[in-house]
Amino acid sequence: MNIVGHLINGEMCNNAERTQDIFNPSTGEVSKQVALASTATVEEAIAAAKAAFPAWRNTPPAKRAQVMFRFKMLLEQNVDKICALIGEEHGKISHDAAGELQRGIENVEYACGAPELLKGEHSKNVGPNIDSWSEFQPLGVVAGITPFNFPAMVPLWMYPMAIVCGNCFVLKPSERDPSSTLFIAQLLQEAGLPNGVMNVVNGDKEAVDCLLGHDDVKAVSFVGSTSIAEYIYSTANANGKRCQALGGAKNHAIVMPDADMDNAVNQLVGAAFGSSGERCMALSVAVAVGDNAADALVSKMTKAMENLKVGAYCDSGNDFGPVITSQHQQKVVGYINSAEEQGAKVVVDGRNPQVEGFANGFFVGGTLIDNVTPEMVSYKEEIFGPVLQVVRVDTMEQAMQLINDHEYGNGTCIFTRDGEAARYFSDNIQVGMVGINVPLPVPVSYHSFGGWKRSLFGDLHAYGPDAVRFYTKRKTITQRWPSAGVREGAQFAFPA
Ligand code: NAD
Repeated sequence: MNIVGHLINGEMCNNAERTQDIFNPSTGEVSKQVALASTATVEEAIAAAKAAFPAWRNTPPAKRAQVMFRFKMLLEQNVDKICALIGEEHGKISHDAAGELQRGIENVEYACGAPELLKGEHSKNVGPNIDSWSEFQPLGVVAGITPFNFPAMVPLWMYPMAIVCGNCFVLKPSERDPSSTLFIAQLLQEAGLPNGVMNVVNGDKEAVDCLLGHDDVKAVSFVGSTSIAEYIYSTANANGKRCQALGGAKNHAIVMPDADMDNAVNQLVGAAFGSSGERCMALSVAVAVGDNAADALVSKMTKAMENLKVGAYCDSGNDFGPVITSQHQQKVVGYINSAEEQGAKVVVDGRNPQVEGFANGFFVGGTLIDNVTPEMVSYKEEIFGPVLQVVRVDTMEQAMQLINDHEYGNGTCIFTRDGEAARYFSDNIQVGMVGINVPLPVPVSYHSFGGWKRSLFGDLHAYGPDAVRFYTKRKTITQRWPSAGVREGAQFAFPA
C-alpha cells in the first residue's frame, strides 16, 4: 500500500516507522497509510532546518520573496491535483477545496511583500550624532502543527511567512489527510527553496512532543482542538518557546427581528453546512431575537434545507461531503441524540442520510435543531458537524450575553438592518472575528486571524501583520560615529 512519508532536507523519505491508515471518507475505505515519524526522524528534520538557517537568514528578503512568487504560480498550476488530494482524504467537494486553496494562496501573495514588511524602523539623531533603528531578525527553526480540516490553507497560514522572514520550518500536518499538505511542500521545493529550509514530518503525539521539547525549535504555531492547543501552549511555554495555539470554536449568529430573513437564511445555510460544518468558523448556533424571528428563521431554513445535497467529494453537484472519520460521524450523531434527549426539537434530521453508491461513507446530513438551551451539552461543546442549533431569546442583550458567556470566542455575526445595533454589537461582543451580515468573517490575508477566550492561547494572531511579529525578534541598534574633535567626556547620569 502507498505510504505517505516525510520531506526532510529536500528529499522524500519514509523511515519504515509505525504507520496509520488514511481513509477515503466518501467510501469508508482505507486508501493509503501515513508514516508516523519517530523522535529520531523529527530530530533529523530539525537538524536539517538548523543547518539551512545560517545561509537562509542571510539570503536577501527580495530573493526569498522570489521563491514565493514561483510557489504561487506552481500552486495555481496544480489546483485540480491539490483539490483531488484534499477530496480523497478529507472529503471536501472540489469547489470547497478550491476556495480553501485560494485563501491559502493569498497568504503566499502576502509573503511576497517580505522586503516591504521587514523594512524595520529608523530614527535619525536620537541624540547628538546618534541614530537608532529596529530590525526584525528571524528566530531560527520554527515548527507548525496543523489540523485535518484545512490541509492546504492552515499550513499556508504559517510557513510562507515564517520562511520569508528568514526562518527554517518543520511542519507536522494532520495524520488524517497529509497528502495535499506534503504535495504542496514539494511544490515549494520545486520553486527553488534551498534544501532544509522547509521540512515536513508526518506523525502523531510522538512527533509533536519531540518538536515541543527540542532546544533548537524556537517557536511553535498550532491550530487544532482546544484541549490539545492548551497542552501545546503550556508545554511550549514551559520549554521557553514562543507559541501561538489556535483552538476550537462555537460560533453564534444573532438574527434580529429586522433582519432581511431571506438573505440571513441563504448566508446561514452555507456557513452552517459548508464543509460539513468542519470549519472553526462554521456558524453552528443561530440566536433568534423574539419568537417571530425564530419562527420565520426555522420555517425558511427548513425549506432551504430541502435542496441540500450531501454526497461524495468527486461529484461537484454536492453541497458538502462526509465528515472525517466514522468515529467523528458517531460523535456528531451523539450530539444530535443528546439535544433531543434534553428536550430540543430536531426539525430537520440528518442522522441517517442515504447517499446512493456510497453506503459506507461517513455521511451526516444537514440537521436543524430548534429550542436549544445553554444548559444542553450540544450547545456547550463544539460539534464540528453539519448541525445548526437555534436558541430563542427575547432581546439582543440576552443574545450578546449568551455569546459573551460561552467559553469560545472565535467568530460571530449579526444579521440586522440597524446600523446602531450592529455597531453596538461589534464594539461590545467578546469575540475575535466579527461579521455584520457576513456569516464567515475570516479575515483577508493582510489582516490577521484569531479568536478570543479559549479559541486562542497566545498574544499574536495567525498570518498577516501579526505573523511578521510572531516569526521575528526585534533588535534595536543605537549607533554613534563621533565627529572628529567632538569627544564627549564620561557621563555617569543615565543617558537622556
Ligand atoms: P486535533 O487537535 O485533534 O489535531 C490537531 C493537531 O494536533 C494534529 O496535527 C494532531 O496530530 C495533533 N495532536 C492530536 N492529538 C495530540 C496529542 N495528544 N498530543 C500532541 N499532538 C496532538 O484537531 P483536528 O481534529 O485535527 O482539527 C479540528 C479542530 O481544530 C477543531 O476543534 C477546530 O475548531 C480546530 N480548528 C481551529 C482553527 C482556528 O483557527 N481556531 C482552525 C481550524 C481548526
